[in-house]
Amino acid sequence: MTGQKQPRRVRLLGLAESSEAYELRDFLQRSVVAFDWIELHGDADCQRELGLPQLANARLPVVELPDGTRLEAPTLHALADRLGWVTQPRLKEYDVSIYGAGPAGLSAAVYAASEGLRAVVIEKHAIGGQAGSSSLIENYMGFPGGISGAELCERGRQQAVGFGVEILMMREGVKAEFKNGKIIADLADGSTMTARANICATGVEWRRLGLSNEARYLGRGLYYGAGMSEAPLCRDEQVFIVGGANSAGQAAMYLAEYAAKVLLLVRGPTFKGTMSSYLYDRILTHPKIDVQFNTEVTDLQGDNALARIGLTDVNSKVTKWIEASRLFVCIGGLPNTEWAKDTPIVRDASGFLITGPDLLEHGLMPQYWPLKRQPYHLETSVPGSFAVGDVRAGSVKRLATAVGEGGMAVTFVHKHLQEAI
Ligand SMILES: Cc1cc2nc3c(=O)[nH]c(=O)nc-3n(C[C@H](O)[C@H](O)[C@H](O)COP(=O)(O)OP(=O)(O)OC[C@H]3O[C@@H](n4cnc5c(N)ncnc54)[C@H](O)[C@@H]3O)c2cc1C
Repeated sequence: MTGQKQPRRVRLLGLAESSEAYELRDFLQRSVVAFDWIELHGDADCQRELGLPQLANARLPVVELPDGTRLEAPTLHALADRLGWVTQPRLKEYDVSIYGAGPAGLSAAVYAASEGLRAVVIEKHAIGGQAGSSSLIENYMGFPGGISGAELCERGRQQAVGFGVEILMMREGVKAEFKNGKIIADLADGSTMTARANICATGVEWRRLGLSNEARYLGRGLYYGAGMSEAPLCRDEQVFIVGGANSAGQAAMYLAEYAAKVLLLVRGPTFKGTMSSYLYDRILTHPKIDVQFNTEVTDLQGDNALARIGLTDVNSKVTKWIEASRLFVCIGGLPNTEWAKDTPIVRDASGFLITGPDLLEHGLMPQYWPLKRQPYHLETSVPGSFAVGDVRAGSVKRLATAVGEGGMAVTFVHKHLQEAI
């Protein structure tokens, strides 16, 4: 490009050990917003970058938008709002409301809107869900060179919006009521959402280590997930990853591109049965990645930020301390189904939503099921309310199945709406 001014990128400025800055970095990265992270170390940096004489008086982190707007210590909601992503629903009632804009929800949105349904997606955080934190997805059909999860989901978002779906960001479904054949959901911001059918695609949230002082280090050396936004900051460091499944394996491969050394801590004795073989073959031969099996992280220490971790051998129970300033926890997820707690929707012991044939008791329809027909394959115990992707009990926790189920649920939504006429 000649003679044309390059558009300025978003600038994010803050302190190294700030969990608020981490939260903003993670959100921008997942949302595929190009940005520069500028770490401030003292008054001179503050004067040069922000024109403020003293670091102590600056309200950090600061986000500077390409139009020159400066947001001081913004919440994620304030940032999303300023980027124009927080909108009001256009309709009073929709044909289908879809909760969650991960791969399953976005796929449902694309099919619903392209087939003429008045569809709305409600997303509590960033577009892309778990997939948004994946650096490179290599087993999704159609992308032989792999694709980053955030980019794939951003394409899905554009496609869904192109077909006319409404996406309401930074909104969370917290309670649901089923009345007169409609679902009326309470959202966390106090508003309500009414639809004739709904698809729950709320996925799972990272499982915590369960250590008493974990929250203290979150964003200050301790991260849940693959650390997409943090990887470039790990140059020449040794980093630690907990987990033995694909998400931990991908995180190891990705972080190894930047870090000097990656130590993967695995509780089990092997990767077999938990990680895809193509991935563990690469990990076990990677010059920068070491694997320690039979190991659990049992303690965390540090003042302002994580400095040491306690590693316990699961067989001998002996604990060793090791210096560690970055620990990425990738140990699976828990379902986001609190909203279903006081509804007739049946969940399994772990909170996943039970659907279709799994609702039958000894081959017979359960007593609480009100219709003559059996529940459709992805239908919960409430007619017209569907569950897809990782939140569904017994689902295969994979991108392709989440996408497939999202599209398939729309077929059942049509059938349900036909019945309701
Ligand atoms: C790091 C990583 C790497 C992975 N790599 C692969 C891979 O290579 N191949 C593969 O096949 N699979 C992979 N997976 C698994 C795959 O990403 C998941 O199976 C897939 O994302 C599940 O999609 P989902 O839409 O069901 O749920 P999620 O992706 O979990 O999305 C759920 C969405 O719902 C939102 N939400 C939750 N509660 C609410 C609420 N109450 N109201 C509104 N919104 C809500 C969340 O914010 C989130 O955006 C990976 C997962 C991770 C974490």
